Amino acid sequence: MGKRKRKMCEGCGLKHLNYGLESEGKAWWCVGCGEVEGVVRVGKQQMCEGCGLKAPNYGLVSEGKQRWCVGCGVVEGVVYLKKWQMCEGCGLKHPNYGLASEGKAWWCVGCGEVEGVVLIRKQ
Ligand SMILES: [Zn+2]
Ligand SMILES: [Zn+2]
Ligand SMILES: [Zn+2]
Repeated sequence: MGKRKRKMCEGCGLKHLNYGLESEGKAWWCVGCGEVEGVVRVGKQQMCEGCGLKAPNYGLVSEGKQRWCVGCGVVEGVVYLKKWQMCEGCGLKHPNYGLASEGKAWWCVGCGEVEGVVLIRKQ
């Protein structure tokens, strides 16, 4: 019953483990072998519950847990939960612009100009 200090992939024995059985919640295989075994990614970085391919940013506000990617989140009807939101227009830049009535920034400067909204937050 010797404990191995560092466990490697059960398949190839060469790579770190990220994949395993969802029911176990334990990783036994690396990404390559995991795909062959048909198992899911387990561990810290959870993937979208819908497609299993993208990092989840969307979830239920009541749960406060990110479970779906943007595409699946829209289908599920859940909201964006990521702490630092990106521009609603391009999704690439930090938002500073929004509706004065809302007081919340949704767009970056470039997209904000297109949307005709005002500067909400200074960075
Ligand atoms: Zn492997
Ligand atoms: Zn997804
Ligand atoms: Zn933008």
